[in-house]
Amino acid sequence: MLSVQDGQNRILTQIDRSTPPEFLPLGRSLGRVVAEDVRAPFDVPPTDNSAVDGYAVTSADIPATGTRDLAVVADLPAGSVFDGALGPGQAVRIMTGAPMPRGADTVYPQEVTTRAGGRVRVGPIAKGANVRMRGEDIHAETIVVERGTVLRPQEIGLLASLGQVQLPIHRRPRVVLLSTGDEVVEPGSARKPGQIYDANRFALSGSIEQCGGEVVDLGIVPDVRDELRARLLDAGAAGDVVVTSGGVSVGAYDLVKDVLDEIGALEFWQVAMQPGRPLAVGRIGSAHFFGLPGNPVASMLAFMLFVRPAIFKLAGRRRLFPEVYAARATEAMRKKKGRREFKRGVLQFSDGCWEVRTTGPQGSGILSSMVAGNCLIVLEEERGDVAAGETVLVEPF
Ligand code: AMP
Ligand code: MG
Repeated sequence: MLSVQDGQNRILTQIDRSTPPEFLPLGRSLGRVVAEDVRAPFDVPPTDNSAVDGYAVTSADIPATGTRDLAVVADLPAGSVFDGALGPGQAVRIMTGAPMPRGADTVYPQEVTTRAGGRVRVGPIAKGANVRMRGEDIHAETIVVERGTVLRPQEIGLLASLGQVQLPIHRRPRVVLLSTGDEVVEPGSARKPGQIYDANRFALSGSIEQCGGEVVDLGIVPDVRDELRARLLDAGAAGDVVVTSGGVSVGAYDLVKDVLDEIGALEFWQVAMQPGRPLAVGRIGSAHFFGLPGNPVASMLAFMLFVRPAIFKLAGRRRLFPEVYAARATEAMRKKKGRREFKRGVLQFSDGCWEVRTTGPQGSGILSSMVAGNCLIVLEEERGDVAAGETVLVEPF
């Protein structure tokens, strides 16, 4: 049986390129992935400038002890520049961020000075105090945002400060989504005995959007071979990725594998994990295909483990996997060696340490365990039963 990691590697090696870039205005780029390295067009700050409101002076005029009176030769409001050069015995009133006057190298904060008419009284201060140097934040031509970065508010702000107005951004991967199953019906419709409302298409749709994909919703397909074939052919033509749920186990109506074998390329995997063992992976035309299990927890988990990194790679992201953390288990957990198990957990900080417990029953159909939880507890292949107090890995969600 395939390990989770081998499965992930096989999927990622199939994806050899990302979606092409499109130019987007900075204001619409939050959460999107930059397609090229962005370099600073100029030094930041562009000139030496004052770090405080106060008086710019020449260090030769700083008294070693006592005080000295200097002539205030200009009063610069924010945004204006002193054209001349500072001479001996002179000071310029300056605002935070204003360029240093030529000849000045030190700034007195206003509150350590005394102003009297056209003169200002100053005392000892370190040479060069309160001056921000040109380029001390960023040198021109250095890379400020690497390709593959997901833009956060701070990257957007930095790019704006560099005068950028638009950016090359990867197009969102288009992910075609459909549910399979004769028993699955649309929420809002009447539900007959034996039918269930479609949970997976909604949970997966949210998951796709959360990881930066654009959802193409193809609804619910019954377990009818011809209908499934037609819908999957449409799906393959409509997106970069196709995701289905249900119909990949070994029941009489589990048709996804058969149909995919006919119209595309199928690799069927039994992954050594719990929950969510069966997984159909392959291609329909140029689209990457993922047939996820029908049980809601299993399908969400398989999405996180196998589809999300694929979408991230298609989207051009540099980081494909989430951070994992260590926490102290507050309860014992059963664990079978030889497979990776994922339990839904509640992670909390308590008495100076991160603690985790399970959400209770862990059946792969119990979607409320995902609702009660805030993390996956990841128990590696080689691990056996966990005793209370042991350290386990967690992946917040
Ligand atoms: P299957 O793999 O198709 O046999 O489905 C496994 C289990 O998941 C069955 O109990 C299905 O009823 C359930 N299931 C399948 N699709 C969905 C869905 N879209 N929403 C909620 N439950 C589903
Ligand atoms: Mg089914």
